Amino acid sequence: MRFISTRGGEVNISSSKAIINGISSDGGLYVPEEFPNLYEKIKNKKNLKYEEISFEVIKEFFTDFTYEEIKFAVNKSYEDRFKVVEENGFLELYHGPTSAFKDAALLFLPQIMKLAKEKENINDEIIILAATSGDTGKAALEGFSDVEGFKVLVYYPKDGVSSVQKMQMLTQKGRNVKVVGIKGNFDEAQRGVKEIFGDEEFKEKMLSKGIRISSANSINIGRLIPQIVYYYYGYFQLVNKQKIKLGDKINVAVPTGNFGNILAAYYAKEMGLPIAKFICASNENKILSDFFNEGIYDRRRELILTESPSMDILVSSNLERLLFEASGRDANEIKTLMEELKNKGVYSIGKESKEFLKDFYGNHASIKEVYKAIKNLYEKEGYLIDTHTAVAYVVLNKYIKSTGDTTPYLIASTASPYKFPRSITNALEIDTNKDNDFEVIKRLNEYCGINLPTNLRDLDKKEVLHNNICSTENMRQVLEEFVGENI
Ligand SMILES: *Cc1c(COP(=O)(O)O)cnc(C)c1O
Repeated sequence: MRFISTRGGEVNISSSKAIINGISSDGGLYVPEEFPNLYEKIKNKKNLKYEEISFEVIKEFFTDFTYEEIKFAVNKSYEDRFKVVEENGFLELYHGPTSAFKDAALLFLPQIMKLAKEKENINDEIIILAATSGDTGKAALEGFSDVEGFKVLVYYPKDGVSSVQKMQMLTQKGRNVKVVGIKGNFDEAQRGVKEIFGDEEFKEKMLSKGIRISSANSINIGRLIPQIVYYYYGYFQLVNKQKIKLGDKINVAVPTGNFGNILAAYYAKEMGLPIAKFICASNENKILSDFFNEGIYDRRRELILTESPSMDILVSSNLERLLFEASGRDANEIKTLMEELKNKGVYSIGKESKEFLKDFYGNHASIKEVYKAIKNLYEKEGYLIDTHTAVAYVVLNKYIKSTGDTTPYLIASTASPYKFPRSITNALEIDTNKDNDFEVIKRLNEYCGINLPTNLRDLDKKEVLHNNICSTENMRQVLEEFVGENI
């Protein structure tokens, strides 16, 4: 399997190179040359474990690695650390070390990157740069902490993440990690990181010192591919539980930010999994919802800070990969669209691309709707969901109401409700009377009795190990200082 850039500047790239580079030198994203049909190959294998499906999916794409290497990487990533549970159509993707779904991809990425580095004979130290709206940062830190040959530098918008997310990051252990708050929003942090990636001169300078810059954001193909596994695993869970028959189509609803998770669902379909509709759910930052309805992507609007902060995004990077497919893999068209986005802040797609995207339904949920949904679901079913998952739940219900489509579904459940305790207690109208999030977690735990994940227990009593703040202009300087530190 080889990889190509969505903007046409690179072709015939090996999987290990694509993983190491993160982003293509032309600014485009790596995509596989083709999608192998996996569904037909594995549909009759019964009761495959999460690790086994991971192996099946990953080996189709990352063909530079031996089966033994992939098995080793998969087991090292997931064994006793991560699992997926299906309940009432909710695909709980948050049973990992950071209690959010990004664990699946970010536990795996360091393992495959380490192997890729060996394949490519790279002796340089690799610096993982990440801009995070909350969950990515912690998951990257957790995945790369003390992995030999790597350093991790995470930038987060200092007022754009929850206090739980912030404490998770600020207490991160590891000799090779650094966490920095940015005076700006997530998009500004991400733009800063992208500018560093796009600056060839700076990267050359770093390389001459034996430092290579790479990414852990969901644009890295090494992060995207392992997410395809959710949908295969979820689908077979529904089959095993006799909620559907093998071959039946399902719909998937995904709370969407950078478009990685829902794109993975689309890739699963390209590999044969019977998925009918992709319900793309947005919060008040409804840029994607507008895009699917109008065919116009318009970022000329203010970013709204919501109670589903991991979805507070104006430029959903991975959409580029879907546009690439929608355009009939026309790299020139993608280049034009992305230039328009950069220069004018807006682009619109043609009729054919729009037609291609007809299986995508976009809509958004307000905080009022989210609160109401969380409360109703809890009171009716005793089942508690977080604010991100609730966005998908609300949008799915809007879809069902407007279409009458009764196709069975999976809703990607992306975070533990304990990660956003204040929003959840507000939704449930529990009087907490406390101004400390960690007290609110305790109160919520007493109220609902749902098991509190270990990583969130006594988080406030852990030692703060990072307290760096910088302006968006100084992001590069922070990087250079960190590079200079010996570990
Ligand atoms: C990152 C994140 C999302 C959005 O996922 P994308 O792959 O970026 O679209 C949704 N919910 C939670 C809890 C997240 O952390």
